[in-house]
Amino acid sequence: METTPRSLATEAVHAGREDLAGLGLHAAPLDLSTTYPSADSRAEAARIDEFAATGARLTGPPVYARLDNPTVARFEQALARLEGAESAVAFASGMAALSAVLLARSAAGLRHVVAVRPLYGCSDHLLDSGLLGTEVTWTDPAGVADAIRPDTGLVVVETPANPTLAEIDLRAVAHSCGTVPLLADNTFATPVLQRPLEQGARLVMHSATKYLGGHGDVMGGVVACDEDLARQLRKIRFATGGVLHPLAGYLLLRGLATLPVRVRAQSVTAAELAARLARDPRVGRVHYPRIGGAMVAFEVRDDPHAVISGVRLITPAVSLGSVDTLIQHPGSISHRIVAEDDRRGAGISEKLLRMSVGLEDVEDLWQDLDTALSARQPASAPQRASAGH
Ligand SMILES: *Cc1c(COP(=O)(O)O)cnc(C)c1O
Repeated sequence: METTPRSLATEAVHAGREDLAGLGLHAAPLDLSTTYPSADSRAEAARIDEFAATGARLTGPPVYARLDNPTVARFEQALARLEGAESAVAFASGMAALSAVLLARSAAGLRHVVAVRPLYGCSDHLLDSGLLGTEVTWTDPAGVADAIRPDTGLVVVETPANPTLAEIDLRAVAHSCGTVPLLADNTFATPVLQRPLEQGARLVMHSATKYLGGHGDVMGGVVACDEDLARQLRKIRFATGGVLHPLAGYLLLRGLATLPVRVRAQSVTAAELAARLARDPRVGRVHYPRIGGAMVAFEVRDDPHAVISGVRLITPAVSLGSVDTLIQHPGSISHRIVAEDDRRGAGISEKLLRMSVGLEDVEDLWQDLDTALSARQPASAPQRASAGH
């Protein structure tokens, strides 16, 4: 139907929703069904055979919620469009998405993974522990070509990386990969700032829990890729069950609508805070990506834990990408599961703080940071009031 490519801002509010007007609807319907009536068992048998053989999306009504869901499919369609991908496959979380990719490659007999640190702490852990039967070789971007073996099924990178915001030249790494698919975790940049498929990556992964959802109230993951790989991922998802809940799919589709506006506004504030931090004598180093974004990482000269307990407006919490500002200490939380030596080797110092900048006013944020940077850690941390958990 489409004739000319539309801009990202337009796709963000229309992709995955083109059929709604024809259905007499405006908002996307939320379909919570776990099963669907099917009086014609012979026809269903043929459709299930077809899915088992190909992994192609079912045509016609869904059969069972682990196979397909129309609300989730809208989110997948929209995200694929934003990333410039043929297809996208959604999962229960970012980690479920990465697991599915690893399982799909292992199932093809390619159990070796080449990866570049830093990665998100649990991605590092999943690869390093070999929990899924994969074997990892860690290298730097320049070492990717040499690290590839005949049984290498995947190269994994993050750029800007969690938590140091280190950037990778995706085009150069993609070139080093040869025929091995490159997976780029695009959680931090989002398709608003970077579209890795255009630079040679074969798979783009998101923790949709972060910017795609954008409001800190939905967990999900998604992989955008070509339809061949998507078919493998759908087969894995069906067989292992890491599906995205339809309500999460609904919220993620809604989140995508404001993604470009949120990311751009948050980036302006983040860039300003990064500049002020860089001039501040209490701060040692500031990491802010060339491509911009709403994440700022910085090393304090004094006690990073005192800054965490000193913020009042900013929420001291792990995760990122929400409308409000969060700050955390990677060495204690997001990357705690990574061995200390590996953390240090990846440039994650004990003085490093990672901040996800929200939509608050820049002056209010700076005032809070300024106060927190001068805070001293109390002898014993104050007990926080608990809301029942
Ligand atoms: C949070 C995160 C993940 C994991 O996603 P979940 O949704 O928490 O499972 C993966 N990669 C990056 C870069 C992340 O920030």
